[in-house]
Amino acid sequence: MCIFAYNYILIILTNFKSKFILLSMIDKKMLKLGTERSAIRELFEYGNALKKEKGDGAVFDFTLGNPSVLPPEEVKASLVSLLSDEKIHCYTSAQGAENVRIAMADKLSARFGVNYSPDRIIMTVGAAASLAILFKALVSSENEEIIVLKPYFPEYKVFIESTGGKCVEVDFNEDDLSVNFDDLKSKINENTVAVVVNSPNNPTGLVYSDSDLRRLAEILEEKQRQFSHPIYIVSDEPYREVVFDGVTVPFVPKIYKNTIITYSYSKSLSLPGERIGYIAMLDDVDLAEPIYYACLGAMRSNGYVCAPSLFQRLVADLPEVYSDTKVYEKNRNTLLSHLEKWGYKCFKPQGAFYLFVKSPIESSLEFSNEAKKYGLLVVPADTFGASGYLRIATCVKPETVEGALPVFKLLADKFISKN
Ligand code: PLP
Repeated sequence: MCIFAYNYILIILTNFKSKFILLSMIDKKMLKLGTERSAIRELFEYGNALKKEKGDGAVFDFTLGNPSVLPPEEVKASLVSLLSDEKIHCYTSAQGAENVRIAMADKLSARFGVNYSPDRIIMTVGAAASLAILFKALVSSENEEIIVLKPYFPEYKVFIESTGGKCVEVDFNEDDLSVNFDDLKSKINENTVAVVVNSPNNPTGLVYSDSDLRRLAEILEEKQRQFSHPIYIVSDEPYREVVFDGVTVPFVPKIYKNTIITYSYSKSLSLPGERIGYIAMLDDVDLAEPIYYACLGAMRSNGYVCAPSLFQRLVADLPEVYSDTKVYEKNRNTLLSHLEKWGYKCFKPQGAFYLFVKSPIESSLEFSNEAKKYGLLVVPADTFGASGYLRIATCVKPETVEGALPVFKLLADKFISKN
């Protein structure tokens, strides 16, 4: 009996020890990233489980930026016709098929009145890959820094830190969510290689004005002179076409020469699961050629080469059509009018499909947890660098908004009228 117990303990200890030794072989940073889901994903998965338990109608899920409108009709028609090309499923060049890049260069040049070369365009597996590749190409040592403007898409930090470089956050002005330019100036130093600009913005829906971008450009030009090296703007534009009230989104390369664009069709064509986007830079960007090749190297080393061939061809062939985003505008208007009436402090978005709201109580996490009890899922914006705020994705069906209104009212009665 005693021998059995001894052997049993020995087996447990050996297993524990070998598991412990084996675990130490796994990269800890990656293990942490993989096991700790983002706050958005965490809530989204919670919502899915809740829907299974209580039914779809009991959950008002405003978590993910997953477009609810279908892609335009032209997408389906084009895909069907592309499928009859027997080479459509073949590998393309790592940076995208040459005919695709030629078509993309022509389209972008005509649209923005500039001259893109096909050899400065890389077709990618969505904006996430565009950013990860570009950051890896730009950061060459652990001292180097990329600046993000709060509130910002949290994955920027993940991509920047995975290059070994530092992610530096710049504050925003609480009254209108604009960039705190004094803080920006104080954060730029000889190690700064880029500033990420995301307009229309996730999570605020803000579209940076021409004058704000010119001010940013002036600061960066001065700092480039001071530190004698380029400082790039990475203009992340997956929401460029999702705008309301006739707002136009300035074309950043015309305002600041050292701009590199990362783009995605996830939002503008409602194709997030198909993973297609690009990186584009004009020839006059400082070090354009080495940056381009370093991007190809980063793609190669990450294994992101050759974006889906069918979707490369789709976006190259498609005329300028985009998903109809009227429903997002309708949702924005419905939410704004009701939430403001009930005392929520909201920021009217000019684009993207998010409504940014000040949490009625200090802790946005606590508010989000309270909302969860009634099946209402809104994202605390702490991981966007904005604690005390909430992000509400408005790319949902209008029924979800209508169903959620009584819960927003109930929470307003509970937390706002008492203040
Ligand atoms: N950049 C921003 C600001 C986003 O909101 C997202 C996705 O939500 C991405 C990049 C990544 O987009 P993609 O689906 O193209 O990887």
